[in-house]
Amino acid sequence: MADTFQAVLISRDEDKKQSVEWTELSEDDLMEGDVTVAVEATTVNYKDGLAITGKAPVVRRFPLVPGIDFAGTVTKSTHDGWKEGDKVILNGWGVGETHYGAYAGRARVNGDWLVPLPDGMTPKDAMAVGTAGYTAMLCVMALERHGITPERGPVVVTGAAGGVGSVAIALLAGQGHHVIASTGRASEADYLKELGAAEIIDRDELSGPARPLGKERWAGGIDAVGSHTLANVLSMTSYGGAVAACGLAQGMDLPASVAPFILRGVSLLGVDSVMAPKELRMEAWQRIAKELDHKKLGAIASVVPFSDVISAATDIIEGRVRGRVVVEMPG
Ligand code: NDP
Repeated sequence: MADTFQAVLISRDEDKKQSVEWTELSEDDLMEGDVTVAVEATTVNYKDGLAITGKAPVVRRFPLVPGIDFAGTVTKSTHDGWKEGDKVILNGWGVGETHYGAYAGRARVNGDWLVPLPDGMTPKDAMAVGTAGYTAMLCVMALERHGITPERGPVVVTGAAGGVGSVAIALLAGQGHHVIASTGRASEADYLKELGAAEIIDRDELSGPARPLGKERWAGGIDAVGSHTLANVLSMTSYGGAVAACGLAQGMDLPASVAPFILRGVSLLGVDSVMAPKELRMEAWQRIAKELDHKKLGAIASVVPFSDVISAATDIIEGRVRGRVVVEMPG
């Protein structure tokens, strides 16, 4: 009999009611791909929370193993770029949405989707960063391409105590930016300062309807929240500044005016991690390995066993997760 491994499976009944259960799978159950990976660590991102709770239509094929990212070791490969024993990371590409994902002992994927685990990083380190942290780096790179240097003025990070926010603060502070952290959790002020936030503001300041133009408060920002928050961030961005937008924790809408764009030359930079081209991913991961302070990563991450992954997914949607959650797979 083939070796089996534990997995989380999301199914839907005839009435389209979603259910989540633990199951045993074998490699024969996995979907098509040219590389099989022993998953050593995974994580819980906001999107995983949406998938498991069914709060948004993240899962587009049933049944499905959720989990949008993992790190592990190649066990089989017919792909030119990978051989048994290689350490790899996967983020996105529809894994955990339309292709069986990370919440299983093994994953079989297209080898083109994988990036090498950077030297000096363990699979758990990589998942402490995870898709949220890699997206934070993509946002930092987008701001850099737009010339947002520390000399230009402060930068704001919204959803500060979340995964994208925490890593964004650590990266930006590491580059010498004056970081303004916007959070709904005043109790996390010490944590955010430890990551490098210079100022903390209450997210209520940004969560109501925005004026077309507000007082110029920052040269740029990284927004994980969307909706009114992004509209306010834009309206308070100084002349020629830029905001990297990657999230929708408050909402998918953008109730903004064009005033910041046409009167202040502000740029809105869209950031997507799922389909980002391989060169950009490689650059992001190499830079994370070099630039993200390991001590700060330790402060950002908490570790849960695989058996807790379903409850951790509910916690992230209910705003109970600080920073990042690493899911340790059974040895
Ligand atoms: P987290 O849940 O870890 O962080 C989100 C944070 O947003 C929360 O911690 C909270 O921060 C804040 N927040 C939550 N609800 C609200 C609300 N109603 N109003 C204002 N702020 C709120 O999620 P992640 O960091 O993993 O992801 C953040 C966002 O980025 C998500 O929307 C996710 O889907 C998106 N994302 C997008 C990617 C892409 O490719 N574009 C990739 C990865 C993530 P605080 O407690 O500090 O207020």
